[in-house]
Amino acid sequence: MATAAIAEQSGKVVIRNIGRMLSGDLEHPILDADTIVVNDGKIIAVGKEKDCDTEGARTVIDCRGTVVSPGLIDSHVHPVAGDWTPRQNQIGWIDSSLHGGVTTMISAGEVHYPGRPKDIVGLKALAIASQRAFEAFRPGGVKVIAGAPVIEKGMVESDFAELAAAGVKLLGEVGLGSVKAGDEARQMVAWARKHGIQSTIHTGGPSIPGSGLIDKDVVLEADADIIGHINGGHTSLPYKDVCELCERSTRGIELVHNGNERISILTARHAHELKCLHRVILGTDGPAGSGVQPLGILRMIAQLASLADIPTEVAFCFATGNTARMRDLDCGLIEVGRAADFVFMDRAQHTAGKNFLESIQLGDLPGVGMVMVDGIVRCQRSRNTPPAMEVPVISH
Ligand SMILES: [Zn+2]
Repeated sequence: MATAAIAEQSGKVVIRNIGRMLSGDLEHPILDADTIVVNDGKIIAVGKEKDCDTEGARTVIDCRGTVVSPGLIDSHVHPVAGDWTPRQNQIGWIDSSLHGGVTTMISAGEVHYPGRPKDIVGLKALAIASQRAFEAFRPGGVKVIAGAPVIEKGMVESDFAELAAAGVKLLGEVGLGSVKAGDEARQMVAWARKHGIQSTIHTGGPSIPGSGLIDKDVVLEADADIIGHINGGHTSLPYKDVCELCERSTRGIELVHNGNERISILTARHAHELKCLHRVILGTDGPAGSGVQPLGILRMIAQLASLADIPTEVAFCFATGNTARMRDLDCGLIEVGRAADFVFMDRAQHTAGKNFLESIQLGDLPGVGMVMVDGIVRCQRSRNTPPAMEVPVISH
């Protein structure tokens, strides 16, 4: 299985002959540029080739007129250990997602850990161990931001301070543990926020036997940073309640693949009407009862572009720049200083779409031709997407 040593440096990389550059930025989702220059994993120039210093590159990538986007960010995953998940007993699910263009994953809790500890010392230990393990080990090269404790009754402010001091930056989905009341959740979310820990709340019906309903009043009262799977995971709240969450909260609106697809489409339309598309972010909520979806983020983009009237280049922002900004990540946007995490794509062979953007607007998935993380090529022609018409060529 492909693994990644994090210390590896890319040196200078020139990415040229880009046919279309998606920025990840909602304000300017398409850049008038054909070249990106990278040094040691960071973007150092973006522009027209004649205006960029392309001399002395260790690696040159000729995109042959294909599309480059920031690497996709899956805002909602449930990792356990390395590239294994007990949820469907699969190995290699993260590496498989790399082949779907995903370069960063964010844990919404290591909830599938067999025998997951629910006492306070144990849950803190698991969170810290998970944060450490995924920081030191990137399956397939994917950056997994993990160590997301599921909060339980009895936690006090010093627990959150201790977690933060140990490097924990996220809470697992609020509501998956014993804290299900709005006032109790609100207090713990506030303590987490005070200590720099971001929070996500489970929204909607129970995921599996033993978990419970989190309704709109609890979501509003808890006031977590992200309204996790607002379209349910799997079971959605009534659409009028989802609308109320969009309208009364200013927090992140997370749509997931393993949720109610109808509500996902309606919510994206509603967010557009409310002029709050900058709040929309995408996740898979995998691994889940519905399995693992290596192409889940691309499928969400195609779903929203084809059925919710979201322009393709805007739908890409939901899985890149929006998430990066909301979660304070150094990737997700094509701009100088950001991490050189990219997905290289072209329209799929034999799509009815005349070009990349149109093919997705028509509901087809794109073909991934290459994925780069921190300036290092982690895979070439995807083993999972339909084949791309054209793929980039590497020279050294
Ligand atoms: Zn959930």
